[in-house]
Order: sequence, then C-alpha cells, then structure tokens
Amino acid sequence: RRRREALDKLIDLKELGQNSGSIRVFCRERPLVQTNNLKTKSPVTVEQEKIAVESVGIKKEFSVDRVFDQESTQEDVFQEVKPILRSALDGHNVCILAFGQTGTGKTYTMEGTDGKLGIVPRAIQELFSHASEDSSSAYSFSISMLEVYLGSLSDLLAPRQPLFRPTECSTACNLSILATKSGAVEVEGLTDVSIPDLKKANQWYCRGRRARSTSWTNVNDVSSRSHCLTRITIRRHGATEEVSKLWLIDLGGSKRLLKTGASGLTMDEGKAINLSLSALGDVIAALRRKNSKLTQILSDSLGDGSKVLMVVHISPCEDDVGETVCSLSFANRARSIESNRDIPEDLKMLKQKRIAELDKEVCDADEEL
Ligand code: ADP
Ligand code: MG
Repeated sequence: RRRREALDKLIDLKELGQNSGSIRVFCRERPLVQTNNLKTKSPVTVEQEKIAVESVGIKKEFSVDRVFDQESTQEDVFQEVKPILRSALDGHNVCILAFGQTGTGKTYTMEGTDGKLGIVPRAIQELFSHASEDSSSAYSFSISMLEVYLGSLSDLLAPRQPLFRPTECSTACNLSILATKSGAVEVEGLTDVSIPDLKKANQWYCRGRRARSTSWTNVNDVSSRSHCLTRITIRRHGATEEVSKLWLIDLGGSKRLLKTGASGLTMDEGKAINLSLSALGDVIAALRRKNSKLTQILSDSLGDGSKVLMVVHISPCEDDVGETVCSLSFANRARSIESNRDIPEDLKMLKQKRIAELDKEVCDADEEL
C-alpha cells in the first residue's frame, strides 16, 4: 500500500507542470434581454480581468485572462482569439471551448448570427487569409463536424443524415473512437472533407449547422444540451508535412443536477452533461481519466504542446446567480491548473527533490516485497 501511495504521489508530481499546454480562460457576460427581470440589481460586476459575484449569501471573486462585458462585440472577442489561431497554423493542436449555462450566449459566441459572425466562421476566414499571405508555406485544410449527446457521437457532415435520431442511438450516429499508433485520436468513420477555398468551407460549415438544428426537431431542445464540435485539420506542407487540429466547441449547457427537475432535463441528460464537464476538468488536470466521449476525442488536443482557450459564458441576472458561480468555479479550476506551468525555480527544485524521495520510497517498498 505504501508503494502504491508513493507511486500515486509520484505520478501526480511528475505530471504537474508537464502537461504544459497553456490554458487561457475568457469570460463573456451576456447582455440583459427584455424578458429578464430588470428591477433587481445584477449580482455580477466585471472588470478587465475580474468578475465579482455578490448576492444573498454569496460573495465571490474570480480572475480570468480577459473579461468581455455586455457591450463587447464579436470583433472584440475575435481579436483576442487570433493569437491562438496562429499557434494552430504553427502546428499546435488548439481547442477553443465555449461553456456556461444554457442561454448565456455560447452559440452566439461560436457561431454568431447573420452579420454578427462568431468565432468559427471568423477563424475559418482567418485561416484562409493567412494561407494566402504566407508565401513560405503551403497549407491545406479539411473540416469535420460532430455532435456528442448522451455519450453517442453523430457525424454532422455524413453524406446522408438520418431524418431523426432516436435517443437510443443507432449505428448511424454511433461512431467509435480510436487511438492511432502515433498517439493521435481519431473518430472512426468521421467524415472529413477537404475545403479548397473559403466558399466551400462556409458551405460545409452551414451544412453541419443545419444538420444539427434540424435533426432534433422532435426532441425538445436537445441542441442546447448536446456538444457541437467543429474540427479543422490544418496541413502545412514543407520539407515535412505538419498536421494540427483546431477544435471549435460549443459545449452543452452546464446545468447542475439539482436543477434538472425544474429545467425539464432528464436525470440521464443532466448526468451526461455534468460528467462531460467534470471529466473535461479532470482531463485538463491530469490527462489521465478518459471516461467520457468528449474527453476521449479531445485527449490528444488538451495535452503537451496544445493550446486551450475556454470562454465561460455568464448571465447578468439574479435568478441565475447559482449557475454563474458554478460556471466560474469550473473555469477557475481549469485555470489554476495552468498556473502550475509557471512554477518558480526554487519550487521546481523542491519538486525534483520530492520526486527523488518518492522514487526512493517506491524502490524501498519494492525491495521489502
Ligand atoms: P446558448 O448557446 O448559451 O444557449 P445562445 O447563444 O443561444 O445561448 O444565446 C441566447 C440568446 O441570447 C440568443 O438569442 C442570442 O442571440 C442572444 N445573445 C447571447 N449573447 C449575446 C450577446 N453577447 N450579444 C447579443 N445577443 C446575445
Ligand atoms: Mg447554444
């Protein structure tokens, strides 16, 4: 048992600071809408890198890398996203995830509306414009889109979409996940279409969005509970071919289980979403637990050398204050992991020393056996 304990601690220590993919966290506050109760004061106040939440029995402060207030535009958000796109073009795997309570603007941020394009269409545009300007390398791009719902995967760009998807997914929408020899992760049979130009790219992206919104019409508002993943594969052709993945993800609403009854969410749905979110946090923490489809798919894009940007969405309303605190706490958890990356030198020495000690403990325990 002693050996096990020492070994566990050792693994934790070794992993700490090793999965040094950088995680950045942005927070975006949705504007008030007419149906909101405008009489009560908002419990949320924001500064450039801080969010304070204050209400009856709650007083909390959260730090993030950047806050976008109610007045922020799609362009404001995209300006801050651009640097991370450069990483994708430079060969890093990149994940941009939107999460937060249902109705807080995740889809608005990722997809946007006509004339107010979100991150995904802007990112696609940016990739093509970079490719045409960069004379030193040639790029090619391809796109895949999939939806994860209650642990099953469906291919949004499949040649023929099933007219309706039963909750118990049939094979048409139950793809499986494979790890390849090189350590990359692949969704078996997932359609991946080459996009030679911006026009084609937008056509395929629209098609995927349509597939997502139309196939669920007979199931009450599933789209807000499923995760929608867009993957752009970037190939840079030079002396060697470099491949990287850009994941753009609209996560299902984070509803706490407690509220499932009131929100009409079934227990299974609530559990699946919560599991995905907590598993995602765990993956970012240790990249060890691989217990949900979402984290399996992303496991090679959240680790070493990859860049993660989470955009946590919050509501300005008093009624939502519980969800707001939940979402921000989750974001905080992800972010605090990242700060391990900047361990000061003396702490690094301590860590090395502790690793040596634990190593010895494991060896000693082995000898005793
Ligand atoms: P979610 O995907 O998180 O459930 P939506 O993106 O569907 O939320 O947003 C809910 C509604 O609020 C939509 O009508 C959307 O257009 C609007 N909305 C969300 N965020 C903003 C924003 N920052 N500015 C203007 N409208 C917004
Ligand atoms: Mg949505």
